[in-house]
Amino acid sequence: MKVACFSTKSYDKEGFERLLPKYEHEFTFLEAKLDEKTVSLAEGCDAICSFVNDHVDEAIVNKLAKMNINNIVLRCTGYNQVDLKKAAELGIRICRVPAYSPEAVAEHAVALLLTLSRKTHKAYNRVRDNNFSLEGLTGFNVNGKTVGVIGTGAIGSAFCRIMKGFGCKILAYDPFEKEELKNSGITYVSLENLLKQSGIISLHCPLTPETQHLINAKTISLMPEGVVLINTSRGALIETKAVIKALKKRKIGYLGIDVYEQEEHIFFRNLSEEILMDEDIARLMTFPNVLITGHQAFLTQEALAQISKVTLENLNELEKGNALSNEVKWAEENK
Ligand code: NAD
Repeated sequence: MKVACFSTKSYDKEGFERLLPKYEHEFTFLEAKLDEKTVSLAEGCDAICSFVNDHVDEAIVNKLAKMNINNIVLRCTGYNQVDLKKAAELGIRICRVPAYSPEAVAEHAVALLLTLSRKTHKAYNRVRDNNFSLEGLTGFNVNGKTVGVIGTGAIGSAFCRIMKGFGCKILAYDPFEKEELKNSGITYVSLENLLKQSGIISLHCPLTPETQHLINAKTISLMPEGVVLINTSRGALIETKAVIKALKKRKIGYLGIDVYEQEEHIFFRNLSEEILMDEDIARLMTFPNVLITGHQAFLTQEALAQISKVTLENLNELEKGNALSNEVKWAEENK
């Protein structure tokens, strides 16, 4: 298949180019983000390959259909950015990479937690300035703490396993409970109880209409004082303004985020010479107890290799018209 690959970064290209000789697909790597203007760059292709912040909305789907492009391969897990209903109506088939390396994302969530708990981000800068003072670097042990895990799919489960190794008590909330996690000593509770009892909370559920702003003024009010909140899932799970208010009052003691509600205007780009216009992220960056990374939790060699492999296999299945192992359907979204 001829594939237009949008939002391509050097690491995406390297991952695909390593495997492409084994496949018969022809990739055009485009740095451009997918939007109404750039979608025409896919003219003459059989498929597009897009990433998390490429909005495959109704207008894009209509344009793809007009160009006879009936295949979309998402090189990511989440698909909240896709108008699945419109795509289904127009006969466009969509595949994703369901779990390329759950451990990559889970380990990044742990990295955010440990950086905040031991202030290694501050220590790194301080020592480079020949400042070996320990003043202000007092941290806290993660061992023995109660950790609340919201969403125990592939990534949430991997996160539970790691936190168990740290000697934490783990509470979980997920509409679908996993027997193997229960058998390993993890306790499923209601969302309310999880929020009330967990000193550390990590988000691993998808973004859906139901989970949008799951963390808001009301749910924050249930949390213990000084709670640590980690989000490596999707930015809009958190109502940013409510979190800023809670940080000001020290209700939220630490915030570690790899995703941000308005990230599509900021992340994956070098804006170091520009004026940052987003007031909320600018405010978040002023807090000493907030750590932000730019949606890099997935970015490991292992995950990139798996993303390329599964995407190319998805294209093989789409081309052959076989049953699709990783199809995303409108019905699935509606469940
Ligand atoms: P998954 O589908 O394996 O697991 C998601 C889990 O969330 C499922 O068990 C589901 O039952 C549960 N869930 C659904 N609705 C819920 C709700 N209202 N409350 C609690 N749990 C709910 O997905 P995954 O591979 O574990 O990925 C989780 C999320 O992580 C993805 O949706 C994606 O948004 C995000 N992600 C982020 C990165 C990154 O680089 N930061 C990379 C990959 C995935």
